[in-house]
Amino acid sequence: MNFPVKITEADLSARVARVAAIAAKHADAVDFEGRFPIEAVEAMKVERLLGIQIARDLGGEGASISEIAELCAMLGQACAAAAMVFAMHHIKLCSLVEHCDNSAWHRALMQRIAAEQLLIASATTEGGIGGNLRNSICAISIDGDICRLEKDATVISYGLHADMIMITSRAHADAASSDQVLTVFLRDQYTIDRTHVWNTLGMRGTCSDGFLFKGEAPAEQILPKPFAEIAAQSMLASSHLLWSSVWYGIAVDAVARAQAFVRAAARKSPGAPPPGALRLAEASNLLQMVRSNVVAGLKFYEDAKDDADKLSSMGFAVAMNNVKIASSETILDIINHAMLICGIMGYKNGTPFSIGRHLRDAHSAQLMISNDRILGNTSSMLLVHKQDTSLLG
Ligand SMILES: Cc1cc2nc3c(=O)[nH]c(=O)nc-3n(C[C@H](O)[C@H](O)[C@H](O)COP(=O)(O)OP(=O)(O)OC[C@H]3O[C@@H](n4cnc5c(N)ncnc54)[C@H](O)[C@@H]3O)c2cc1C
Repeated sequence: MNFPVKITEADLSARVARVAAIAAKHADAVDFEGRFPIEAVEAMKVERLLGIQIARDLGGEGASISEIAELCAMLGQACAAAAMVFAMHHIKLCSLVEHCDNSAWHRALMQRIAAEQLLIASATTEGGIGGNLRNSICAISIDGDICRLEKDATVISYGLHADMIMITSRAHADAASSDQVLTVFLRDQYTIDRTHVWNTLGMRGTCSDGFLFKGEAPAEQILPKPFAEIAAQSMLASSHLLWSSVWYGIAVDAVARAQAFVRAAARKSPGAPPPGALRLAEASNLLQMVRSNVVAGLKFYEDAKDDADKLSSMGFAVAMNNVKIASSETILDIINHAMLICGIMGYKNGTPFSIGRHLRDAHSAQLMISNDRILGNTSSMLLVHKQDTSLLG
């Protein structure tokens, strides 16, 4: 089947802008009630945004990672939870798009995702392992054509709202903890029993409850490449870049609120610079650094995309890790600046200058795969790898 869709960037931005307007309207309620951003996700489906990454010949629009990052940032300015749902869906989809071109079952799945706007959730975190993505305790068992898996999946964002879950496990009962596979289970092929309720400081609308997952499906649904390759060659980059884009979006909105506050103060006392003006300039500087960092990371990934050796190199992993560390730490500084600029009007909920939700959502960034864990991983690589410091990219 061929879908002759011609999409321009302006077209994508206009579609996301409509979603963002809906997301912004419900963002405070989503946060306060800790509920799934259903209105925003329904709007994503109406605008057919869940399939844009899929190749055109499978019914998608062949959107690049940079285009998707831009949409994540736009949504992040409206509702961080909705933006994170969009980002996580596309991170999972990236594993299908980049690694499953030769698998008939997964190609057919991509056609369905594009046509039916199906939502993908992720289950990598596991009880006893935490955020150690590259290790699993649970093992998939293959019995003829059928595979079965049980996993103590302690965090699955929007698990109750997804149409499928992509889940990591050891490749078989005797496999080493790092010998992993990634498998797609469709909604009617698994049960999830809630073990933890997601009542958190921020990112409340991601509804990232814990579940005991039990699934049974045709074994052909296991992705055709080892998870080690998938993680190194696409998931590391797509996660760090798309998460960072969402976080950047949160910071952009906080700075926009602070700028509105400073402008209002300047109008009230013309001639006297408002006290927050210098801090706003500092926040603007930090915001630009985050933007540059994400843009450089996106360019690095786009340039390396067709070169498996480059994608698996230490230089690439160090660069992607650094994007995540820098953006997750710097946004806190930026949003804190915005809070200081807006003062009590920023601290209070329900004002045009409220920053509390932004600050709480942003605090998840350092934990979403713990920065300590990522720094530990980078530090091991730096024992043998010399960091690329050229300005030529
Ligand atoms: C908003 C949000 C949504 C999420 N959605 C999902 C999802 O859909 N699916 C999913 O699978 N997961 C999801 N996660 C989980 C997330 O990606 C992390 O894997 C998880 O939060 C890590 O949990 P942890 O902090 O308990 O575990 P750990 O990674 O074990 O870390 C615990 C603490 O131990 C320390 N630590 C552990 N190991 C090391 C090390 N090697 N070096 C240094 N320090 C170390 C760190 O200080 C860390 O703070 C989500 C998380 C968030 C915040």
